[in-house]
Amino acid sequence: MAKRKKSKKVEETWDGFSTFLTSKGLRVTGQRRGIFDALFEEDGHFTAEQLLVHARNLDDTVSRATVYRSLPLLVESGVVREVDVGHDNKFYTVNLNSENFKAQVVCLDCDTIYEVDAPFMEWYGKTVSEKLGLDVQDQRLQVRAECTQFQHLGSCDRNK
Ligand SMILES: [Zn+2]
Repeated sequence: MAKRKKSKKVEETWDGFSTFLTSKGLRVTGQRRGIFDALFEEDGHFTAEQLLVHARNLDDTVSRATVYRSLPLLVESGVVREVDVGHDNKFYTVNLNSENFKAQVVCLDCDTIYEVDAPFMEWYGKTVSEKLGLDVQDQRLQVRAECTQFQHLGSCDRNK
């Protein structure tokens, strides 16, 4: 049942993204659909290169250039959110459940990103800003941490 609900949401999101592309005078292509579908194969956070691999599994005509050109469009349309962890590699995540403000907890070693709901942070930022007469545009909370593997072994597998 949960799966069916998700695919309906995916189709609605695709409709929205198609409309967005058309409104920008861009074509709705099979490659873009492949990239879009690959988003939902991703587990949590992903890089452009990871998305490219998954997109090619679904549609082997997907080019690296199309992935790199599509990601800013996916971000601009709100389908995907960019998660900046202060590295050269940009991380992205699908934005389907973005009702709540998210805080990121990032492992110092393997860069695994844990997202936690932090609605109180949004409230706090707004409250403080309103007192100063300012209009909030963006805010983030990022915590650097040691994942359990790092704590136990002193380093993480993913880094090797
Ligand atoms: Zn780690």
